[in-house]
Amino acid sequence: MIVMKFGGTSVKDATAMRRVLGIVHAQHERTPLVVLSACGGFTDKLLTMARCAGTGDTQKMHEMYQIISTHHITLCNELLANETYRERALHRTNTLLEELRVFCEGIALLGECTPRSLDAIASFGERLSTSIFTIAAQEQGLDALFHDARTTMRTDSVYTNATVQFSQLQTLSRGQILPHMEQGGIVITQGFIGSTEQRITTTLGRGGSDLSAALYGAALLAEEIQIWTDVSGVLSADPRVILNAKSLPEISYAEVRQLSYYGAKVLHPDTIKPAVDKNIPVKVLNTFEPSNSGTTIVYSTKPEEHGLRAVTLMQNCMMIRFDASPDESAAHILADVLEYCHVQKVEILASVGNESSCAIVIRSSDSTIIPNANAVRTAVALLCACGPNLLQHGTELFEFASALQESSPLSVLYGSSDVSIIALLSPDKAQAALQKVHEYIAV
Ligand code: ADP
Ligand code: ASP
Ligand code: MG
Repeated sequence: MIVMKFGGTSVKDATAMRRVLGIVHAQHERTPLVVLSACGGFTDKLLTMARCAGTGDTQKMHEMYQIISTHHITLCNELLANETYRERALHRTNTLLEELRVFCEGIALLGECTPRSLDAIASFGERLSTSIFTIAAQEQGLDALFHDARTTMRTDSVYTNATVQFSQLQTLSRGQILPHMEQGGIVITQGFIGSTEQRITTTLGRGGSDLSAALYGAALLAEEIQIWTDVSGVLSADPRVILNAKSLPEISYAEVRQLSYYGAKVLHPDTIKPAVDKNIPVKVLNTFEPSNSGTTIVYSTKPEEHGLRAVTLMQNCMMIRFDASPDESAAHILADVLEYCHVQKVEILASVGNESSCAIVIRSSDSTIIPNANAVRTAVALLCACGPNLLQHGTELFEFASALQESSPLSVLYGSSDVSIIALLSPDKAQAALQKVHEYIAV
């Protein structure tokens, strides 16, 4: 079996879903488990609606509800040609929409939207998209089974960012999903959502459908995991920012993890782990150009491979430099830094200077916690370039430095990873620096 995951843009409307049906049809003999996101933009709309309900803005809540409801009803009408199937899809959609309405009214009555309520509301995006898609697949003659991920994706109760209990997922999914596949059928389920032991709905964090796909792939020992998105795989940079970014035929798990950690949205960072552990190949493919071979994410690269091949930029970071007062030692500063790291999500330990200073970088640009009377805060952007075996070859550091000549980096971090070099830049120089580094990569 294989896992095929389609993101929000890939299933955003009837035209997009029809395209996805064609892609699934072409591979149905490989018995896919199809994992879908919500229609593009609808998780945001659902969350906005829930928050409006919680704050008592019922007018906005009703407006959002109307948009959500109209979109999914239109989707049924446009996607399904056969009346019987269309009626079935409309009936299922209206039932879900009614349930959603009752939930929202409940939140509005209570005047409080908890993380648990947010998860309950957010889950409707994936539940609606998969319900409609399953009926459309059946209309096309596929032996498609709808699977509610909340019966197999068992999680803890950390709402909005739940952790999956993998051994439970393994047992439950082998029992509930494989039997249908063994008969040659395909199974359609939701990304992003799960439930606790008590059957309370949870979500795995924004962008979590990639993680769902990887977890199902690992649990069911898939031959391959395909992440279908709106670009041709992992590119040398975000194509929305660098128009001539090119598709990379292959990239290692370690590199893609660095890229996604430092802002390349193409894959959820944790997606990689469950698949790496089981050595399952992951392909990133383009729904809008299925013949493009996209990117294969490989476990490791050959030792002779080298050269920077992708770059990403993370804006809105803050560098905090801890300077010692004359009577403080290096140990004092490090104690302050470590204590601070406990309260803030620290991206990198940018540099440990001499005995009198040390700098760290955090993601937020308006941190209100002042760690130490002598701490100096500077707004920065973090640029991360990736490539294989950087430390064995060493030449990439010089390329990187030449590309950044005019950008006067505030700090360069090299040596702590074999696959990335990081520069801290003044935010106004960051875009130009990104272009320059990409020009080097593109040669
Ligand atoms: P999906 O909805 O399919 O999960 P996402 O929007 O989460 O898709 O991720 C795909 C997007 O990631 C692309 O549209 C692209 O703009 C962005 N992206 C950022 N950096 C990269 C990169 N290096 N390679 C490919 N895509 C990237
Ligand atoms: N629909 C969810 C989100 O928008 C999960 C996903 O698409 O991966 O975050
Ligand atoms: Mg995504």
